[in-house]
Amino acid sequence: MPRKKAKSKEPEESEEQRKERLRKLLIARRQEIIREAKNEIGKFIRGENRQLAETALDDGDWSVVDLAEDLNLQKLTVHKQTLNKIDEALRKLNEGTYGICEDCGSEISEERLKIIPFAIYCVDCMEKREELEKIEREERGI
Ligand SMILES: [Zn+2]
Repeated sequence: MPRKKAKSKEPEESEEQRKERLRKLLIARRQEIIREAKNEIGKFIRGENRQLAETALDDGDWSVVDLAEDLNLQKLTVHKQTLNKIDEALRKLNEGTYGICEDCGSEISEERLKIIPFAIYCVDCMEKREELEKIEREERGI
């Protein structure tokens, strides 16, 4: 009896399995970011306030970041933005609109999602946007 060829590197994955895998990936990324944010905050806040800040982050309360923005903690702002994107991706995963470009409605390639699991634009649209931003910056003379 001929054995089934195991030629494809990636095993067949059902839609449910794919969702589950992506969900885990996004949640892991989320935890990683919160950990980094805590580290970042820890550098600037000490003692009791630090404990408060860390608890706030666990609860998803990023008002401490607004505070941090006063301290010019740009890194934290980036963390917060990424976290928002991850939450958005998780929401889309639940809704079944995950992996669809917000601009043109086409599917974002699996390779791109592997690198940026919270991407909301396909490569083409992302490049277009970056191009536009560049032009805008130049026009404003920045
Ligand atoms: Zn697109």
